Amino acid sequence: KQTEHINLPSLIQEVLALYASQGGAKFTTSVEEEIMMINADQISIRQVLHNLIKNALEATEKNGNVKITVSNRFKNNARFVEMAFHDDGPGIKEEHLDKIFEPYVTTKAKGTGLGLAIVKKIIEEHGGAIWVDTGYKAGAGFVIQLPAV
Ligand code: ADP
Ligand code: MG
Repeated sequence: KQTEHINLPSLIQEVLALYASQGGAKFTTSVEEEIMMINADQISIRQVLHNLIKNALEATEKNGNVKITVSNRFKNNARFVEMAFHDDGPGIKEEHLDKIFEPYVTTKAKGTGLGLAIVKKIIEEHGGAIWVDTGYKAGAGFVIQLPAV
């Protein structure tokens, strides 16, 4: 796959703008710095954002809220860009926590169960990691770390 330097906060704004006219939950973003670069395949990272936004929209009411935060994280001298999604929907039941990243696992009547499996594959292909923020009890939280440029 072709990688390029991508400013993650800009890409998030660009993808969110595509949903702006659709109604549904309100998205707010909070970024530590205006410029936070990753080296990645742009199409794949767009897919990640779409899948997480879609899940958040499906989980929340029209007047729901989704917060996306982007921050720097340091682990053994390496810097990562961390992107977190927190919504105020019903959250993820404990019994589903260890299954939702597997393909075809869905709790939705017409779900494919592929969204998070694809997200996890893409993030891991980029040397990153994704997990559920189990400390967050007001809804669902997902945390993604990608190596920073
Ligand atoms: P699908 O959306 O087709 O069900 P996904 O792989 O995108 O497949 O998600 C798998 C499951 O993870 C969902 O069916 C749902 O149970 C859970 N899930 C994902 N995102 C959220 C969220 N934001 N809030 C609550 N549950 C979620
Ligand atoms: Mg989905």
